[in-house]
Amino acid sequence: MPEGDVVLRTARRLDQVFRDRPLVRAELRWGTLIGSDLVGRTTIEVVPRGKHVLHRLDSGLTIHSHLKMEGSWRIQPADRVVPERDTIRAVLGTDRWTALGSRLGMLDLVRTDEESALVGHLGPDVLGPDWDVAWAVRHLRDGHLGSAHDRIAAALLDQRNVAGIGTLWASESLWAERINPWTPMDALTDDQLTAILDRAQRLMQHASATSRPTTHIHGRSGHPCPRCRRPLRVALAGPAERERTIFYCPQCQGGLAPGDDGRTQPPLGHTRRPPARGGERRAGRR
Ligand SMILES: [Zn+2]
Repeated sequence: MPEGDVVLRTARRLDQVFRDRPLVRAELRWGTLIGSDLVGRTTIEVVPRGKHVLHRLDSGLTIHSHLKMEGSWRIQPADRVVPERDTIRAVLGTDRWTALGSRLGMLDLVRTDEESALVGHLGPDVLGPDWDVAWAVRHLRDGHLGSAHDRIAAALLDQRNVAGIGTLWASESLWAERINPWTPMDALTDDQLTAILDRAQRLMQHASATSRPTTHIHGRSGHPCPRCRRPLRVALAGPAERERTIFYCPQCQGGLAPGDDGRTQPPLGHTRRPPARGGERRAGRR
């Protein structure tokens, strides 16, 4: 699933292509948005907000999209034919470039001054220009999930607490800080929460500048931990029915996950299913 770093990179590229240029092509292939007349409107800017992309037009409207599990915006020269695929849900173009929104999880057209209806619930944005780690720690501590029994990994994944972190950067940040993903929130000090969020921000900032970010443990259960060489593991975190896979090292991060019996987990690369899609979730369930 694309996380904040991928969304930031996507929004930057769209901004480079569209900013200050009129749309010569605009097809929103999405329910009631079909037939929306946006040709001739000029793009003011394209900005990310957590995992959301906000494409603001001079008509006072915003095209809002969310990449969800496997969405993407791809850019091609304007003179290249747009492929006939059901998965393409939006086509936006300038005289030079065309952007294809594929497998988008959400697509909306809203008044720019009413964007908050779509993104107002989000917590502080890890990669936002107004990021303030002290504020984010307070928000995480007092957040919607802020009961004493909440576990840190689940709290990080809830976009109402902090926006932009998904399973990849939650796993990597907690491993880097040697914190067990199932530690109750009230067992963590503000210094520890600050260290986790600082780490997540640094890793994601770095990743946003490259198309192939460096990861140490994500998708690598069954492989040796880069630090202690004991096997990495995968387990589920988060509320029932919305559980997500988290990778971790029991040795470096203070023991097994609740419900993890410690049985050998084969390396994900040795299973038939790749870890990038549903395979990682299934791998965690055995
Ligand atoms: Zn380790």
